[in-house]
Amino acid sequence: MKIIVQKFGGTSLASPSLRKQVTEKVIKAKAQGFKTVVVVSAMGRNGDPYATDTLINAAKEVHPEIPARELDLLMSCGETISGVFLVNNLNKFGHKAVVLTGSQARIITDNNYNDARIQRIDPKVILDYLTKDFIVVVTGFQGVTEDGNITTLGRGGSDTTAAALGVALQAEVVDIYTDVEGVMTADPRIVNDAKILDVVTYNEICQLAQQGAKVIHSRAVEIAMQKNIPLRVRCTFSEGEGTLVTSYGEVLELGITKDRPITGITNIGGVTQIKIISSDHPDLKETEMKVFKAMALGNISVDFINVYPEAIVYTVRDEVGEKALQILENMGFKPQLIPNCAKVSAVGAGMTGIPGVMASIVEALTKEGVKILQSADSYTTIWCLVRGEDMEKSVKALHKQFNLNI
Ligand code: ADP
Ligand code: MG
Repeated sequence: MKIIVQKFGGTSLASPSLRKQVTEKVIKAKAQGFKTVVVVSAMGRNGDPYATDTLINAAKEVHPEIPARELDLLMSCGETISGVFLVNNLNKFGHKAVVLTGSQARIITDNNYNDARIQRIDPKVILDYLTKDFIVVVTGFQGVTEDGNITTLGRGGSDTTAAALGVALQAEVVDIYTDVEGVMTADPRIVNDAKILDVVTYNEICQLAQQGAKVIHSRAVEIAMQKNIPLRVRCTFSEGEGTLVTSYGEVLELGITKDRPITGITNIGGVTQIKIISSDHPDLKETEMKVFKAMALGNISVDFINVYPEAIVYTVRDEVGEKALQILENMGFKPQLIPNCAKVSAVGAGMTGIPGVMASIVEALTKEGVKILQSADSYTTIWCLVRGEDMEKSVKALHKQFNLNI
C-alpha cells in the first residue's frame, strides 16, 4: 500500500476558503494513487473561535487553575472540530472520509499530561479504513493513555502525530503543509529576502527547529529520522516543491553537496538572563550546585548556561523570571536579571572546522551596534544572547553577513 501522510497546521485551516484549498491538496494526493492519512491542527490562532488558546483563555476566566487532565481534554477539542470540518469538505466533493481522534487512531502515550510522549501506535484501525478506500483524517496533537485518559503532545504536537503516523504506517513521505513555502534561511516574517532551502538533512532541520525555526517541531524530525521516513515542508497555498528533509546519504545521492557553512539564522524571544556574581558569593562551585538544584526543584528550565570564574550566567523564559528571582533571593543570593532578551543563533553542520565564523558574527553584530550579552558555540551552532529590541536587527545582520539571501 502506497501511503502518504499530509499534515495541515492551524493557519492552513483558519477559514472556509483555506479549508477548500486543503481539501484540494488531499484529493490531489488521492488522485496520484496514494492512500491518504491527513493530520489536522486546531483552526486558526488565539482569538479565532475554536483555536486552542481561545478555549484555554475562556476557561481560565472562570478559574485560572485547570487540572492537567482536564486541560488536556479541553486542549484536544480544537483538533476534533478541524477534523470533522475537513471530513465534511471531503464528503461534499464525493470522497469517502472518516475522522479518528488520537485515541480512536490508537496513539498510546504516557500519562505526562500537556506534554505526553507517544509510546506506541497500533495502526490497525487506520489501515482497515485505508483498505476500504477511505481518506483517514486523524486529529493531531492528541493521544490516549493505556487506561483511556486523553493526553496532548505538547508544542508542535501535530507535527509529532504526523511523523509518528508516517513511521507506524511506513509512509512514502510525510508532507507538513504550512503557510510558508518551505524551510527558509530565516523566519520570513523577519527577513523578507530569506531563501527556501530545497533539501536539508534531518540533523540540520533539528538544530534549526530547536533554536527557534517553528516551521516544524524537532521531536517530529527525530521520530521520522529513526526510520528514515522523508519529510517535506510545503505550502498549502501554492504548488511549490517546498523543502525535502532527508538523511545525509540521501542528500549526497541527490547530488546536492553545496558547501554551506551556515544553513540558517534562528531566533527565540522572551528570554530572561540571570547573573550571579562570585564576589557576592565566593564559593562559586557550591553556589552553582545550589542554584541549578533550586531551579530544578522550582520546575524552571534553564538554558544557555555559562559558568565563569567571576559569575554564573544562565537564561530562563520570561514567564518564570519573577519566580526564579524569588527563589534565588529567598536563598540569600543577589541575582541580576535582564528580562526580554532574545537568543539568536547561526546554525550549520558545515561550520565545523571553518575558522572565523564567531569572529564574523561578532563583527556583523558590532557593526549594527548590538551588544552581545552572552555567547556560546558547538560544532554546529553559535548562540548569541541580545536584548529583545535588537533581535530582528541581529537576525537580519547575520543573514546578510553569511550571504544567505544569495
Ligand atoms: P502551522 O500552523 O502550519 O504549524 P507554524 O506557525 O507552526 O505553522 O509554523 C510556520 C511559521 O514558522 C511561518 O509562518 C514562519 O513565520 C515561521 N518560521 C520561523 N522560522 C522559519 C524558517 N526558518 N523557515 C520557515 N518558516 C519559519
Ligand atoms: Mg506548527
